[in-house]
Amino acid sequence: MKENGDIMVSPSIRGGRSLRLKLKNITASTKMKHQCPRCGKKSVRRKSTGIWQCRSCGFTFAGGAYAPSTPIGTVVRRLVADIAKRSSTKASSSV
Ligand SMILES: [Zn+2]
Repeated sequence: MKENGDIMVSPSIRGGRSLRLKLKNITASTKMKHQCPRCGKKSVRRKSTGIWQCRSCGFTFAGGAYAPSTPIGTVVRRLVADIAKRSSTKASSSV
């Protein structure tokens, strides 16, 4: 089966200059080395879409498709932490 749902980086993308510029930034971000959340070294590289691996400590984690952590990911993480905090304090009384 072919992956048709994936957004592929192609030069034939339509949408104007701004989109292409954005795409350029995204591509640069995927090729850049990122900081490892575990050892802190800048040796995290993209393994595949959404999968990132630290070449220093071997830590593999799921992140954004084009960067280890996305602004949306940060918000989601904060939200999840907030829900977890809330559910842990209300767990005994709400059941
Ligand atoms: Zn690491």
